[in-house]
Amino acid sequence: MAKYAIGADVGGTSVKMGIFTDKGTMIDKWSIPTDTSNEGVNISGNVAKSIHEQLQKSNISKDQVIGLGVGVPGFVNEEAGRVDFAVNIGWRNYPLQNSLSEALHLPVYINNDANMAAAGEYWQGAGRNSRSAFCVTLGTGVGGGILLNGDVVNGPSGTGGEVGHVTVVPGGRLCSCGRRGCLEEYVGMKGFSLNLKERLASSGQATQLHAESEVSELFVAAKGGDKLAQTVIDESLYYLGLVLSNVVTLLNPEKIIIGGGISAAGDQLLEPLKKHYERFSLEQADRSLSFGIAELGNDAGIYGCAWLVINRENKNFT
Ligand SMILES: [Zn+2]
Repeated sequence: MAKYAIGADVGGTSVKMGIFTDKGTMIDKWSIPTDTSNEGVNISGNVAKSIHEQLQKSNISKDQVIGLGVGVPGFVNEEAGRVDFAVNIGWRNYPLQNSLSEALHLPVYINNDANMAAAGEYWQGAGRNSRSAFCVTLGTGVGGGILLNGDVVNGPSGTGGEVGHVTVVPGGRLCSCGRRGCLEEYVGMKGFSLNLKERLASSGQATQLHAESEVSELFVAAKGGDKLAQTVIDESLYYLGLVLSNVVTLLNPEKIIIGGGISAAGDQLLEPLKKHYERFSLEQADRSLSFGIAELGNDAGIYGCAWLVINRENKNFT
C-alpha cells in the first residue's frame, strides 16, 4: 500500500500544504488562509479539516498517511511539541503538536519554517545527494538551516541555524531582535535597501537608483554598469561571504544553498559571493564544498515538513 506524508508550512497570511509520497514526490498542493484571530487558536482545526477534505478528494485513506510535519515562523521546541513564540501568528507557549494531533488523529511533528525550507532543499532540491548542507534564505530578512548527518540542527531553544542574527558589525545597525549589527541588517531585502540608502546619502556618485529602488532594480543597474549599485551589492556580499566562511569552517558542510527572493539573481549573486567567501575560507574545509541556488522556490518548506515526518517516523521504528 502506498504511503504518504503531509507537509504544512504556516505563514502569516496562508498555510501552504502538500501531500508527498514517502519517496519525496509531491502529488498535490493547496493552501488556506491563516486565521490569526484570537492568538491563532483556530488554525489547528482549520488545517485538520482542510487535510481531511483534500485526502478525500485525492482518494487517499487516512491509514495510508504517515503523519503531518509543520513549519512555523518562530521559535519552536520540537521535543516539547511547543511553539515558544511566533509573533506573526500569535502563538506563545502554544502546544501546537497536541492541538493538531487531537484534531487530525495522526502523528504530528513541528519545527521552524526556515529549518524546514532548508530540509526540503537538502532532501529533494539543490542539496539532494549530499550528507550535509547549510541553507541561507535571503528574503526580507535572512533565515538559515543546518542539515548535518541526516538531521536538522534545532538546539534546545530552537535557534539552531539562525544565521540572520549572527553579529557582523559590533555596535552596528539595530536589529528586530533587539541587538545590533546582525547579518540580516546588511544582507536580504531590508539589508540591501539600508546599504543603498546609506550609499546614496554619503557617496554623491551618479546612479540611476534612488532610496526606494527595489533589490531587483539594484541587480539590473549593477549589470548595466552602475558603479554605486555594484558597490552596494559588493558590500552586502562581503558580510555574507564572511559569515559563510566561518560557517564552513565550523560545520564543514558539503553544500551551501542560497534561497529566497534575492537568489533569483543567480550567478550575479553567486560569483561575487564566492570571491568574498574565498578571502576568508579555510582551504581544508573548502575542498569538499560546493555552492548552489535553491531549486524548490516557495515549495521548499512543505517538502521539508514532509521530510520531517518521514525522518522522525523512521527513527521511531528503528
Ligand atoms: Zn538580530
